[in-house]
Amino acid sequence: MQGYIIDIKAVKDDDLIVSILTENQIYTTYRFYGARHSNINVGYKIDFELESNMRSSIPRLKDVIQLGFEWIFDNEKLYCWQRFIKLFYPHLKDIEDIDNFYFKLLDKLSHKMIKQNAKRAICKSYLKLLQHEGRLHTDFTCFLCENEILEDISLVRSFMPVHSTCTYSKAFKIKKVEELFFEKSLILFEDEEVDYLWNILLQGL
Ligand SMILES: [Zn+2]
Repeated sequence: MQGYIIDIKAVKDDDLIVSILTENQIYTTYRFYGARHSNINVGYKIDFELESNMRSSIPRLKDVIQLGFEWIFDNEKLYCWQRFIKLFYPHLKDIEDIDNFYFKLLDKLSHKMIKQNAKRAICKSYLKLLQHEGRLHTDFTCFLCENEILEDISLVRSFMPVHSTCTYSKAFKIKKVEELFFEKSLILFEDEEVDYLWNILLQGL
């Protein structure tokens, strides 16, 4: 089976509870500490086996093989990737049957990050996620006052549109946000603006 590690919790004696997102499920697994185990970390894509245990409801994680990314030694890319993938755990953890959209999204994103800037590629993937979940608000109605936004627009958590005058957040030209929402393009955005979007994303999916 293949999956992405979206959460790791340390328990007694350096053992770990490892949560893995596969195509259709999130597995919560137990990994015993041992020097011969391969190194694992949040964000890694792994091939693995599970072993059920009569004494525990949590299956044991075994035969782990790390499936590396081309950019795994690029610290900036790995850092951004890990920050993003960690957000999937609180977002999906209570859902029983996971839509394979998420696994595929991460697969595609990991390929795009070979050539693209990490934050830009991740923001674009996040817009696709919002759209898939029906949470991308392309009608440009202000989340706070519920009136239409015609000029300067600000974005708050989950890229919810608001009037710049209704909030004290950074103002964008509406044309720019239209390009962002409809074309999923960040070409018009400067790096510092991408950083701004990135920080909104980090508030949670
Ligand atoms: Zn408003």
